[in-house]
Amino acid sequence: MVSLYQAHKKIYPRSVSGLFSRWRWILVFATQIIFYGLPWLEWGQRQAVLFDLGARRFYIFNLVLYPQDFIYLTGILVISAYSLFLFTAVAGRLWCGYACPQTVYTEIFLWLEEKAEGSRAMRMRRDAGPWTLEKFGRKALKQFMWITLALWTGFTFVGYFTPIHLLATEFMTWNLGSWEIFWTFFYAFATWGNAGFMREQVCKYMCPYARFQSAMFDKDTLIVTYDKERGEPRGARSKKADPAKLNLGACGDCSLCVHVCPTGIDIRNGLQYECIG
Ligand code: SF4
Ligand code: SF4
Repeated sequence: MVSLYQAHKKIYPRSVSGLFSRWRWILVFATQIIFYGLPWLEWGQRQAVLFDLGARRFYIFNLVLYPQDFIYLTGILVISAYSLFLFTAVAGRLWCGYACPQTVYTEIFLWLEEKAEGSRAMRMRRDAGPWTLEKFGRKALKQFMWITLALWTGFTFVGYFTPIHLLATEFMTWNLGSWEIFWTFFYAFATWGNAGFMREQVCKYMCPYARFQSAMFDKDTLIVTYDKERGEPRGARSKKADPAKLNLGACGDCSLCVHVCPTGIDIRNGLQYECIG
């Protein structure tokens, strides 16, 4: 059968370390401590942050918002949108690289994958090889960690709408409402699917933000890019060789920059909408 779509090639991003990767992890920790921790925080006699849809009240620490206060929500959304445009114009895709849930959860899921299945080279080798008991064990361990985290994420999400202590008791006695069951498992499924399997495809094919980001860039925007003047003409050479004598630029064509890219693009081809760095 003739397929109208490009065949999906699985991407095995190589792990990286360095200043910006450390910053990404700091942001991952900060956002996740807030997300997982906030619903457990008590404020007086109630949960500090609770969006009680049934009672039509949003509790945010001392603030209690009613339906007529939705103008504030509109204000927050407008400010957030303009901030996103401003930060993108000044410093590129900061949101994509450091704070977007798709990036944050993919980063955590990739870390778990590496713990269970090893480095990029080991994962590629194992995936290309036959099924063995070891391969099955490692994949099962990875799925166990992914599913546990995804379920915890779904539970936490619902904990923003149903008091989380009550939700925990309901879970333990399996006395949940149908909406609570639906949203916990739906959110868990979406987390597992998006961060475990779809990954860069969400950015490439689903996210509208990726499509118009270049409209916010100008010549002064800070972006991660390849210096053509310095790198070209690219070509392999021995470490001791003088590139100038070989008529080569600084790029040794080692493909490391392609291996570390979470969306699998080649940064040397210039600015691309898939670049979430
Ligand atoms: S392209 Fe979209 S989904 Fe991907 S990291 Fe950026 S905002 Fe998130
Ligand atoms: S990482 Fe390797 S392939 Fe990429 S620009 Fe640097 S030298 Fe060239």
